Amino acid sequence: MTLHGNLTWQEYNPEDIFEQTRRKNRIILMTFPECSEKLGLEPSILTVAPDGDNVEYSFKNRDFNDNDVNMYLCSVYISGMEEFEKWAMRHDQNKIVVGGYHPTTFPQEFTNLAWKIVQGPCDSLYKTLEQVGQIVPGIVTDKRIPRREIYDIYKNQQVIPDKRPEQTCVSINTSVGCSMKPPCDFCASPIMCSKVVSKPLELVEEELLNIRMYRPEFCFIRDENFFMQRDWERRLQMIGELLPTPKVKKPKLYLFASANTITEKKVQAMVEAGVYMVCLGLEDPTKDYQKNEKLTEACALLHEYGVFVYLSFIVNPLEIIGKEPATQFYAALNNRLKELRPEMICGNFLMPFPGTALWDKYYAYVDREDYKYYDSKTPFLVRNKKLQKKMSLFLIWHQWRYYTSRFYNRNVREFAVNDTLHNRFIELADQFKEGYETMWDVRT
Ligand code: SF4
Repeated sequence: MTLHGNLTWQEYNPEDIFEQTRRKNRIILMTFPECSEKLGLEPSILTVAPDGDNVEYSFKNRDFNDNDVNMYLCSVYISGMEEFEKWAMRHDQNKIVVGGYHPTTFPQEFTNLAWKIVQGPCDSLYKTLEQVGQIVPGIVTDKRIPRREIYDIYKNQQVIPDKRPEQTCVSINTSVGCSMKPPCDFCASPIMCSKVVSKPLELVEEELLNIRMYRPEFCFIRDENFFMQRDWERRLQMIGELLPTPKVKKPKLYLFASANTITEKKVQAMVEAGVYMVCLGLEDPTKDYQKNEKLTEACALLHEYGVFVYLSFIVNPLEIIGKEPATQFYAALNNRLKELRPEMICGNFLMPFPGTALWDKYYAYVDREDYKYYDSKTPFLVRNKKLQKKMSLFLIWHQWRYYTSRFYNRNVREFAVNDTLHNRFIELADQFKEGYETMWDVRT
């Protein structure tokens, strides 16, 4: 005998049935690829979530019963496309709304999978959906802060120096977009929003008071280029004043900046507000970038004031095939690291994003099946899988070598301090150890 669909009487629980009835008209928020608890940040889609206790964020990209759900709001990044496509085919596409980077750049890939396709930033769901047509621009009213209460921010384990696993890191955007002209050839940010749009100060204040409730020890200011804002000083001051709590008197802040815009006045203002680290893009160390003409001076200035430097670098897998080019590249990188002494580094393989100048140059090397490898850690531009693995191994190994070097530990900071940076690299080193021992020669 079955009751209520396929439930047998032993499985029947009146409370479950009540819960299902109550949850009719649910609005489910999802992110593709699935939310990572290890490297997660509060997802931007929380800003799109409308009011109401029928709105939920799903950490798992599981299947739902369409009869219980009014609408699925899905943020899709390029690497989550395959996962999304499979999931959408199992659900009522008339209830699916998509947004985020991939629907913004390739809306036509979603026309058979979603009811509405939202391009660019959005914080007003119903106004956006009211627009005529399947592909619509996101409407921003700047009246809403992200609904963090439907998300578990304690699952965010930012990998940064000094942060211990049990400490809390929150994040905030005080602006969206980037006005760099021409945009950097690899960067997808200006595609989502091609000019800096600052949030009103009252909204920033409201959001700061909201994230203060989590008593954060760390806060990541996620603005693509914080200092492009005319009133950056006021914003930094607000963050420094509103975020501290009796428990955490001076939360540690970190943010992105362009080396060429770093001045002593800015560094002093940053230190005053509690900025402990600045992320600058070193990019490809064998190339010259206009934005990095003053990188050496910027790093020296930050260090003079005790601010950590975080440098991300790019490896073009098509340019370092073979022992000689790889040796030369990593030697150039190591020399540059010794000059700049960054406390944190992060290597990424070149990924040509649709809409960028790099896409025009490399799109011929990218297949739709490659989308899932847009994680910056897979050199998918080369087709040989064994070579891909070797390159990934090298990328991690060179970072590990820097962190564990006598140079880093004597001249930069101590590495083995059980913070999230150290812990993450211990995990990665374990993961890659076997590969290091077995696949040294890619031609075997
Ligand atoms: S890398 Fe930074 S400065 Fe360059 S386009 Fe992207 S956000 Fe703008």
